[in-house]
Amino acid sequence: MNILVINCGSSSLKYQLIDSEKEAVLAKGLCERIGIEGSRIVHTPAGKEKVTQEIAMPDHVAAVDAVLAKLTDKEVGVIASLEDIDAVGHRIVHGGEKFAKSVLITDEVIQAIEEVSDLAPLHNPANLIGIRSCRKLMPNVPMVAVFDTAFHQTMPKKAYLYALPYEYYETYKIRRYGFHGTSHDYVSNRIAEIFGQKREDMKIIVCHLGNGASVSAVKNGECIDTSMGMTPLEGLIMGTRTGDLDPAIIGYLAEKENLSAGQVIDICNKKSGVLGLSGGVSSDFRDLGNAAEEGNEKAETALEAWSYRVAKYIGAYTAAMNGVDVIVFTAGVGENNAFCRAQIMSYLEYLGVAINEDANMIRGQEVEISAKDSKVKVWVVPTDEEMAIAKQTAALV
Ligand code: AMP
Repeated sequence: MNILVINCGSSSLKYQLIDSEKEAVLAKGLCERIGIEGSRIVHTPAGKEKVTQEIAMPDHVAAVDAVLAKLTDKEVGVIASLEDIDAVGHRIVHGGEKFAKSVLITDEVIQAIEEVSDLAPLHNPANLIGIRSCRKLMPNVPMVAVFDTAFHQTMPKKAYLYALPYEYYETYKIRRYGFHGTSHDYVSNRIAEIFGQKREDMKIIVCHLGNGASVSAVKNGECIDTSMGMTPLEGLIMGTRTGDLDPAIIGYLAEKENLSAGQVIDICNKKSGVLGLSGGVSSDFRDLGNAAEEGNEKAETALEAWSYRVAKYIGAYTAAMNGVDVIVFTAGVGENNAFCRAQIMSYLEYLGVAINEDANMIRGQEVEISAKDSKVKVWVVPTDEEMAIAKQTAALV
């Protein structure tokens, strides 16, 4: 089946056309600056050079139209006609408590996604625009919604409730939801496959460490806890997000800097994390590593604080599961940054974790990076959220 995977943001749209049986990416690309002057599409057919074209995209319908034109183009296309697209899988950020798994998109589903949009005001409306635009141009193609939050819906109350007056949970559904669920699900499944065991029989900690970052504890095949909360701001230190923070700081900073709560939270989301901690060096771990090597102390501290936070979560989740069999690193930093992995693992000696320094230098592939005698195994498993979305979509249609 050919599945078009769509990840729609407010002014961007990422896509991949995937043959779900062969697990092959036929083409992928990105539309940028939708609704803004200078919009363009970057399209990469498998095994060929990418092509970039400036093209007017006043709205998302125009963007989807441009994607479909590229996919069926005589020169850079990969399919003969739109009939060759069997289904569309949409990445949806927030499913609230309504969606514990992927679903076929119907009018009712669209309405339900709309109803939880309050919880992800920056993401869900954009995701919905993506759905509506695709429906307009491909009215007869089945579509599936795959939620970032769904995998974490198995968390027990003790893990997902905030210690606020209970009525706020009842009235506003304020609780922890967790994100990156497709990745945590995919990676924990994959490690079970690699071990030749059932996920149900394992205790797994998945560290999804990219620009956005989260850790999850997977026990008896289910997520029992994860570090992101009602929004992706909670938990680990990230590229530009604070992660865990004393909430009193929001009011204090608002008063001192004469800002609204919303403005402070914007700082917490966009100007903090390792970017903020490093004094503005970068949110990118390659730049931070280089700066630290050149003696930039703030960059060094940012990396240390970042690793320390990950190690603390691993400790917490080991306690939550009463043990751990395997710790898995994934996403940009987790897959590629040997220095950060080693820094995190240096805190885990008490678990009997021992590093295989040579294996840890390998980048971007499935590899065990713990030593033979390591009591807890540590692996790198590259994530593939688009492939996971394509497979879930194919399974549902
Ligand atoms: P993601 O959000 O998963 O795309 O991850 C982005 C982060 O991964 C950035 O901070 C990058 O510095 C880091 N990253 C990606 N590729 C590499 C690489 N080859 N070496 C080191 N870090 C990398």
